[in-house]
Amino acid sequence: MANRSRVLIIGAGASGLTAAIHAARNGTEVTVLDHMPSPGKKLLLTGNGKCNLSNLDLSPEYYNGAEASFIREAFQCFDAFKTREFFLGLGVPLRNKDGCLYPYSEEAPAVLQALLSECERLDVKFNYNIGIRRVIPENGLFLLDTKEGEFCSDRLILATGGAYRKETGSDGSGLLYLKDLMEHPIVPLHPALLPLVSDRPYLDEVQGVRTKGTITIILENGETYCDTGELQLASYGLSGIPVFQVSRHAVSALLRKETVSCELDLLPGISENDAVSFYGSLFRGHTAPASALLHGTIHKKLIPVLLREAGVKDKSGSGITGEEIIRFVQTTKHLSLPITGHAKPEMAQCTAGGVDTSFVDPKTMGSTLVPGLFFCGEVLDVDGVCGGYNLQWAWTSGAIAGRNAALSAKISR
Ligand SMILES: Cc1cc2nc3c(=O)[nH]c(=O)nc-3n(C[C@H](O)[C@H](O)[C@H](O)COP(=O)(O)OP(=O)(O)OC[C@H]3O[C@@H](n4cnc5c(N)ncnc54)[C@H](O)[C@@H]3O)c2cc1C
Repeated sequence: MANRSRVLIIGAGASGLTAAIHAARNGTEVTVLDHMPSPGKKLLLTGNGKCNLSNLDLSPEYYNGAEASFIREAFQCFDAFKTREFFLGLGVPLRNKDGCLYPYSEEAPAVLQALLSECERLDVKFNYNIGIRRVIPENGLFLLDTKEGEFCSDRLILATGGAYRKETGSDGSGLLYLKDLMEHPIVPLHPALLPLVSDRPYLDEVQGVRTKGTITIILENGETYCDTGELQLASYGLSGIPVFQVSRHAVSALLRKETVSCELDLLPGISENDAVSFYGSLFRGHTAPASALLHGTIHKKLIPVLLREAGVKDKSGSGITGEEIIRFVQTTKHLSLPITGHAKPEMAQCTAGGVDTSFVDPKTMGSTLVPGLFFCGEVLDVDGVCGGYNLQWAWTSGAIAGRNAALSAKISR
């Protein structure tokens, strides 16, 4: 005899828990299945444990994958203000740090605990360590064949996350069930928000350098993507938030076998002319080596590399010619590196690709192909940049999917 429930959710992550709360608040019994022994493993890792859970600037331009209109329509139903209200209602007021929203305590476990407490209050049933073999649509119901027995439901919400963080349970296995569900179309997956690999020999010398800079990714077709912030240089390549922000575009171009390069501006916010006149007056009349004089503006480990790349010998400041200053400034503001790959997918903070949103209604998160099937979170082809955008997507899509799965289950009763 199958365990029967009105709404069944696969995945007890950020989006699945949000969906469970919104479904239960709309008056249906809810069961959540997860193949991990405990919920919300990825949520606990977010924001270095501080959980950057939303952003006040929720423009669709910060998202990739789905059409902007899909994202916009979803946010019309549940935006950052609704998120704030939702968490306040769970006893978690939010802290605004330059537009990025965190739980007031800046502790991810507080967010997970609040979601679980609300699920408990609403009598949501949880089943962990569940190995789902197949999802079978049968007479308008969903029958789940699992190693632990059969589950059956009127409505099914797929909230299984991305594909690259196996240690959190997010391993892409959820998408396999879509083969049983009318071959629901999937946009091919690739990792996003991760470090990039380059092969410049001098990277060994600058391993560990953290410096403010702008990275501009340049694709073969001339498209560019840039971001500014703290760049982290490593012997294998480049890391840091600005690199994560542009990595998706580099990775998808590499998968298309295109040549990808990047330019680093290591004097962001300072024009070439201003930098040339600054160094001109700094070097004039100074007998100290140029490398020592440059230390006030450039990280120590980068100075010999930049001088070498600019073809400028280290000598006394007064010995540096005007032309050498121009070459040095141009190199420092346009340091070019090839991008030859990306870090291991397991380092990705997000999965690009997933359930094709052309077959999903943004106002309900319901499939337009399989009645009764809903989606939420990273399993959808929606990936945001760093800054709270991916968790906001989990809350938004989870709230919409949960509410609409419950309402449609009640109507069908
Ligand atoms: C290190 C790191 C830091 C991050 N920091 C931030 C941040 O600060 N801000 C931000 O907005 N985003 C951040 N993200 C991204 C964010 O965590 C995710 O986008 C979000 O958690 C996705 O929620 P989800 O519910 O879709 O998936 P998940 O949270 O991955 O949950 C999916 C759940 O489904 C379960 N599951 C999967 N497959 C199956 C299956 N076949 N059967 C049963 N259960 C299954 C999993 O065990 C898991 O519990 C970060 C990600 C990482 C990895």
